[in-house]
Amino acid sequence: MSLGIDVGGTKIAYGEVANGRILWKNTIATPQSKNELIATLTKIIDTYSGKEIGIGIPGQIKNGYVIFTPNIPLSDTPLSEILLKKTGKRISVENDANAFLIAEYRWGAVSSYDSAIGITLGTGIGGAIMIEGKLWSGAHGAGAELGHMALIEDGPLCGCGSRGCFEAIASPRSIEKWVKEQIKNGFPSQKTLYSLKEIIECRNKEPICTMAYERFVRFLGMGVANLVNILDPDIVVFGGSGVLSWEKWKDDAYAIFNRRILPSLKGKVKWVKARFLADSGIIGAAATASP
Ligand SMILES: [Zn+2]
Repeated sequence: MSLGIDVGGTKIAYGEVANGRILWKNTIATPQSKNELIATLTKIIDTYSGKEIGIGIPGQIKNGYVIFTPNIPLSDTPLSEILLKKTGKRISVENDANAFLIAEYRWGAVSSYDSAIGITLGTGIGGAIMIEGKLWSGAHGAGAELGHMALIEDGPLCGCGSRGCFEAIASPRSIEKWVKEQIKNGFPSQKTLYSLKEIIECRNKEPICTMAYERFVRFLGMGVANLVNILDPDIVVFGGSGVLSWEKWKDDAYAIFNRRILPSLKGKVKWVKARFLADSGIIGAAATASP
């Protein structure tokens, strides 16, 4: 059993997990100052009687040190060290996308494979790489920010400051944003806003949705093909809100992917949906705590 703490920009979700199953969980608002946030984490940890505890944070992390996290006041913080001093417990601190892949590797959809790429589709595109059972977190804690692979030279501006990044083109949020811009620029449509779910539903009916859907599967297939051509993993596992409609887009994106990968890999690299969707942040954080 382990405690997983998923620290997000607006809420902290935490709970106890046994073999990938949630035993109980709770949610509180994320304090907006570093001191308050550390005090809150200390309190959560102090009230837990077990020893295995993991924290997942969307940001750049190296050996328990939070280097940079854009939406949470913990940048440049030796979090594991501080929490060890305050609670006496060794706590693993990991990037949330890495935690997602560790959970899928330990208890979920890729548990019988040695090498895997994890992709989370949501506001951005999170990524993680597992090679021979080991997570690659990079020389500087930035591994593996797959969402910032550049795909269009002068493409849409990305949150990282660059342009045309994978996540600025193909994440569910950026597809929705792209549709909004096309409509604003005069493209005829029945509504002014579409969610990815609506885009997928209307893909054979409304031209704007057809275009957006094709953009989504085309860039998703192409982006993942780039990664697979470099790493040659056994499998790619997809998580995040974008996989709620997995059955509707997977085959089209996979067909594009399969056209773009090396001939020797065609048909060999599987795509699967994550096992953990609800509470995946808590389960991922819990999975990083060593048994
Ligand atoms: Zn970027």
